[in-house]
Amino acid sequence: MSWHATVLTLFPEMFPGPLGLSLAGRGLREGRWRLEARQLRDFATDRHRSVDDTPFGGGAGMVLRPDVVDAACADAIAAGPDRPLIYLTPRGRLLDQALVREIAAGPGCILLCGRYEGLDQRVIEARAMREVSVGDYVLSGGEPAALVLLDACVRLLPGIMGATASAEEESHADGLLEYPHYTRPAAWQGRAVPEVLLSGHHAEVARWRRAEAENATRQRRPDLWLRHHGRNSDASLLVP
Ligand code: SAM
Repeated sequence: MSWHATVLTLFPEMFPGPLGLSLAGRGLREGRWRLEARQLRDFATDRHRSVDDTPFGGGAGMVLRPDVVDAACADAIAAGPDRPLIYLTPRGRLLDQALVREIAAGPGCILLCGRYEGLDQRVIEARAMREVSVGDYVLSGGEPAALVLLDACVRLLPGIMGATASAEEESHADGLLEYPHYTRPAAWQGRAVPEVLLSGHHAEVARWRRAEAENATRQRRPDLWLRHHGRNSDASLLVP
């Protein structure tokens, strides 16, 4: 059984979108993963196919109805149980590579994309949804967030990256940002490639890359450095 993603959305036409191209798209066509985008409106019960209503307590915007969302969740769970049910929301836990790895290692996921003011809180609780954010900013809908989460997971699935697999070395794999890359020409606009990379000494190249990765992480993301390497680090090296 291939990794199976179901997206519950008011805009199913946004999928697979960019995930239909490149490595993810080829994986989709080869059946290495499956994607279904289900229209939330199909689970409405009135003749207007309403999915939202005004918020109790007043205020701006509309809220997605719990009964409609719950019916859509039940349908997705029936099509593939044991998958985490994830509500994409700026109130959620920030998506990081550890969570991506966890989701990619499972049977797939069910992603719920909010719109308007979001979901009625009761269905989030009743369905014990995991709440995940893709960053500390507000999108107009959960669909771009779902595409981000799916892209990050799918590229880790077996057979997707193939010979280009470099997931063990890239940024966030071990709590470090990646070292910088260079290619031909060796001299460009008066800028040279670091000498060590032309030396052919694999051990020295590996040492240089590790040092560059550590420096970049300390300087650009002291939060990451402290979280993953803090105990072995010299705090005075941290750039404020
Ligand atoms: N009223 C909500 C709040 O302030 O937390 C924002 C609602 S937003 C306009 C509509 C939908 O976009 C949300 O229900 C959610 O599904 C999605 N969304 C917005 N920002 C997001 C983020 N940073 N991460 C994940 N999903 C997001």
